Amino acid sequence: MKYFSTNDPNHIVDFRTAVMNGLAPDGGLYMPENIPGLKRDFIENLNKTSLPEIGLQVINEFADNLSRSELEAIVYDAINFKAPLIELDDHTSVLELFHGPTLAFKDFGARFLARLMQRYHQNENKELIILVATSGDTGSAVANGFLGMDGIKVGLLYPSGMVSKIQEQQLTTIGGNVTAFEINGNFDDCQRLVKKAFTDEFLKKKYLMSSANSINLARLLPQTFYYFSAYGQSDCSKDQKMLLCVPSGNFGNLTAGLIAGKMGLPVEHYIAAVNANHVFTDYLASGLYHPHPAVKTLSNAMDVGDPSNFSRILALYNQNFSSISDNITGYSISDQQTIETIKEVYKSLKYIVDPHGAVGYEALKKYREETGLVQKAVFLETAHPGKFAEIVENTLEIKIDLPESLALCMKKEKMAVFSPPDFNPFREILISHI
Ligand SMILES: *Cc1c(COP(=O)(O)O)cnc(C)c1O
Repeated sequence: MKYFSTNDPNHIVDFRTAVMNGLAPDGGLYMPENIPGLKRDFIENLNKTSLPEIGLQVINEFADNLSRSELEAIVYDAINFKAPLIELDDHTSVLELFHGPTLAFKDFGARFLARLMQRYHQNENKELIILVATSGDTGSAVANGFLGMDGIKVGLLYPSGMVSKIQEQQLTTIGGNVTAFEINGNFDDCQRLVKKAFTDEFLKKKYLMSSANSINLARLLPQTFYYFSAYGQSDCSKDQKMLLCVPSGNFGNLTAGLIAGKMGLPVEHYIAAVNANHVFTDYLASGLYHPHPAVKTLSNAMDVGDPSNFSRILALYNQNFSSISDNITGYSISDQQTIETIKEVYKSLKYIVDPHGAVGYEALKKYREETGLVQKAVFLETAHPGKFAEIVENTLEIKIDLPESLALCMKKEKMAVFSPPDFNPFREILISHI
């Protein structure tokens, strides 16, 4: 399988290069040249296939320069936790993606990518620097994935004052080969600094560099695994297709769902659920893509004004706007609606959703109201509600038990290096602290 850059279809590389580069040299994102179709057998047997086994079969289609046994070791070690589908009522299920070590779905991609990069890096003598812009959950997932790996260092860039207390603790208390950079700017500034670092000649001479946020293909592909698993766990009969609702920020998660659909997963329709950062819903309404500065919301891991995976979505649909808008419906959910939804889901379904999951649930509800359809649907719960304990506890007037790993992390001391959002000073700070 070959991979091309979304900026230049003639720029072609193999899987290893796509993974180690993260971003293509021309600034584009890598995409598979064609999306492999999975056998009918595979789809029909999903209810009997474990999550890592699904992962192995899917990734084997893409990572064709590694042996099946090498891939098996990587996938089974990375995906060592569950993604249960919980039925909330007759036609609504939630796919819980927060059972990994940092309690958000990003553990899937981050753990897989770390192991894959370690495998590819094992014979290099230059140090590998992983730079990650994070709006909250990416950073801790990636850092935990790479923690303790020899010859690899991780730099996390997060927007000062724009992540929750818990997220900040998770980002800044890891230590070891991980350094947190607190950027005096927003998430888009962080992302811009990372992109700039990758094209900086001086840094490129000094280090091997790679990204590990959702622009890396090896972060994206493992996110297809749980869509297949959700289908296996649902009681969708053979002819029934799934309605999927995905809370979205950088749109990696939704892109993975679209890829799963192209591989043969029976999906009826996709719902993109966003918060007040509505560049994608505007695009669906108008066909025009106008990035804007990110605004701060309660579902802060989705505070993205220029989603990086947009170009991948365009590539998947051959830039065809009408097929995109036929396949995906989008809703933008306000903070006030998010709070109302957390209450409603708790009251009527006895289930605690976090603010991101609430955006997902509310978007699904709006879709049902608008279309009058009540087919079976799955919405994704992307983080454990305990990660947003303050919001959820104040809203529901209950106490949430923090999982033990999180309670421990809250007691540790913050260690972060402050930086302005401008590249030149950032570069100096990076070199002296990483
Ligand atoms: C990252 C994240 C999202 C957004 O996912 P994208 O792939 O960037 O669209 C949603 N919810 C949570 C909790 C996240 O951490």
